[in-house]
Formats: sequence, C-alpha cells, structure tokens
Amino acid sequence: MRRFCYRCGASETEKSPTVQGLCQTCFVNENPLIIAPAEIEVNICSRCKAYFIDKMWHEPTNMDLALEEAARAAVLSELRFAQLTPAGMKSLRNHEVKGLELSLETKPIAGEVIVDVHARGKVHELQVSPQVEHLTITAKPRWITCKVCGLLSAGHHEAILQVRGKIMSPEKRQEIKLMLEQFAEEVRKKDRFAFISKIDEKREGLDLYVNPAGLARRMASLLKVKFGAEIVETAKLIGMDRDRGGVRKFKISVLARLPD
Ligand SMILES: [Zn+2]
Ligand SMILES: [Zn+2]
Repeated sequence: MRRFCYRCGASETEKSPTVQGLCQTCFVNENPLIIAPAEIEVNICSRCKAYFIDKMWHEPTNMDLALEEAARAAVLSELRFAQLTPAGMKSLRNHEVKGLELSLETKPIAGEVIVDVHARGKVHELQVSPQVEHLTITAKPRWITCKVCGLLSAGHHEAILQVRGKIMSPEKRQEIKLMLEQFAEEVRKKDRFAFISKIDEKREGLDLYVNPAGLARRMASLLKVKFGAEIVETAKLIGMDRDRGGVRKFKISVLARLPD
C-alpha cells in the first residue's frame, strides 16, 4: 500500500519513502539537524587566556587567537544534533553522530566572536540524502581571573627553594635560573597549579617562591642530578587551614647547596 505525507499529501515512491509519516521534504522542514542557542557565553581568563569549558580549564595554543579558539571550543561543547531513533528523539554531541560532517568558522567582531556552523548529516536513517544546514552563533566572552592567575598575582607559594653555593657567579646564576624556569614551564603543561610566583636574585644565590611544594622538591632533585647539590628540607608550621577542616599548614623551605 502506498503511503502519503500527512503534511503535504505527496505520495511516497520507492526512491523516496516517507519518514515518520512525512515526505522527505516535509521531514527536513520539521526536523532541523542542528540544535543550538543563538548566543553563548565563554569564560576566559583575562591574564593567561585559559578558557573554562566542559568543567575544565584549557590552555590556548595561540595567545593571540585565544578568544577565537575558546569560542570555537565553547560552540562545539554546546552544539547538539537531532537523531531520531526507534528509542525516540535524541540530541547528541557531534562525535556521537555517525557520518556527520561539521565545520566551524570564527570571525572576531567588536570584542565578540561570530561562529559560522555548517553541518551535513541525517536526522533519520531513512532519509535519502543528508540535510545541509548553516547557522551562526555569537560567542560573548566573560573575562574572568582564573584561580591560578589569582594565586599567582597574590604571590602564593607552598615552598621556597633556596639555591646557594660559593661558585654562584652571575653567569652560573642565570644558567640555573633559566634551567629551573624551563623545568617549571614543562611541569605546568601537565599541572596548571605548578608555577614559580617570584624569583629573588641574591649575591649568595637564588630564592624561588614555588607552588606546590612538590615542584620545589623536583627542582632540587634536578640540581642534585646536574650539579651534585646537597638538599636539606625544613618545614615551618604557619597555621591551620580552615578550608580543609583545620589541617596544619606548613611553609616548606628546600635548600639546595651546590658543591664548591
Ligand atoms: Zn510532505
Ligand atoms: Zn589565568
């Protein structure tokens, strides 16, 4: 028995079956593929340009294009695609939709980012050809200070690493400073909360204000391996951490003494 589209009355053919009682054209008109808001907000740190998406902070790969990168990631996180299955209508993320083609283009305009979304895919498997859709989303930045930048600007540190030694010429001091800074940069790629908040250059050596204490210990180990430094660690009780139910708080000092 031949079926008819209940919307427009067109009869189905072998090449163009009805989908959920609708002809191919009416089905497309009633079931948009892309589900998205016209506007979204992007949380981005005004200092380090890290952005907060999917409950995580992400470091930008390019500082100059950070807002566009953040807008793109935020749109990808918000976009949903309609999928009509025997179990009913689902809205899925792009990577969950089979055969979906998606492209995003970003254009910065007046402090915001316009994101052009182009998608090609089927909502229902009985569709003869994929739907092609295009829409634009405005991504508005919300400039905030991330927790790490807040701690950094407050000079937060769990430990002080003191590098000392009779052989600390200005050149040697620079060499060691650079080495430790590069090491901290590498560690920071895996742990945003690992940083040097301040470096004091002294005649007798270097004082590095470091977070967390583990990073200061790893730096000291590096000085031991590279230069045969002798390590002494001391902890001074500085109070109770009320946020953590009265856990005792210590300021750690790590002394790395280079051999003469
Ligand atoms: Zn129809
Ligand atoms: Zn930040």
